Amino acid sequence: AAGRRPLVAGNWKMNGDLKLASAMQSALQDADLTDLDVVVCPPFPFLASFDSDKFALGAQDLSHFESGAHTGEVAAGMLREVGCQYVIVGHSERRTDQQESNELVAEKVAAALGAELTPILCVGEPLPVREAGDELHYVSAQLDAVVTRVGAPQLSKMVIAYEPIWAIGTGNTATPEQAQDVHAHIRRHLSKANAEAAAGLRILYGGSVNADNAVQLFAQPDVDGGLIGGASLKKDDFLAICQAAK
Ligand code: PEP
Repeated sequence: AAGRRPLVAGNWKMNGDLKLASAMQSALQDADLTDLDVVVCPPFPFLASFDSDKFALGAQDLSHFESGAHTGEVAAGMLREVGCQYVIVGHSERRTDQQESNELVAEKVAAALGAELTPILCVGEPLPVREAGDELHYVSAQLDAVVTRVGAPQLSKMVIAYEPIWAIGTGNTATPEQAQDVHAHIRRHLSKANAEAAAGLRILYGGSVNADNAVQLFAQPDVDGGLIGGASLKKDDFLAICQAAK
């Protein structure tokens, strides 16, 4: 919307295999992906098997360290080396399962930016916060932690994904109006720090997006595409969602 190039990113989570990687590579390579950016985020071991000039590659997480004695961690520079341009940071599953705090997420965004990776920063409230009507404050605090750490000028190099936790993997998609309300809030909130960057910032919606509901969600003025979980594992569905974003 408003001159921003749409972006659709597929988050495979801990799913898929080399066979799916190869099938997705061919399907996307053969598709018409003009007028939008498409990002595939498979698990780390499959990243290097992709090779494309038509879509981009993203990781699902990174270390906030640059290198060194951090067994099991993956550094931003390594992701660059295997062809990543993007990295998901602060997904709610990591905030929950790995207890990633707003501060750690901010460090990871800084590490991504330091290696010239585009962070896809995930924010979004759990159900009790939504029920209490406190989602805008909650999301603002998640954003503020990052802006405080990396500085407002960096906002022009980022993508935000609004993913209400109650909508992720539940089939309980936010309505287009619920998504638009929070997206508009995010843009308004960030424009206080950097008006120009906020106007150009791509804000993706995530949470049970499928080929049927994508058109209406993406038609909202402040919804600039989607972060797709389950439906990104099925190539026909993922391609249909990509077309819906144009
Ligand atoms: C996600 O994991 O970012 C997500 C939005 O998942 P799903 O589309 O399956 O709800």
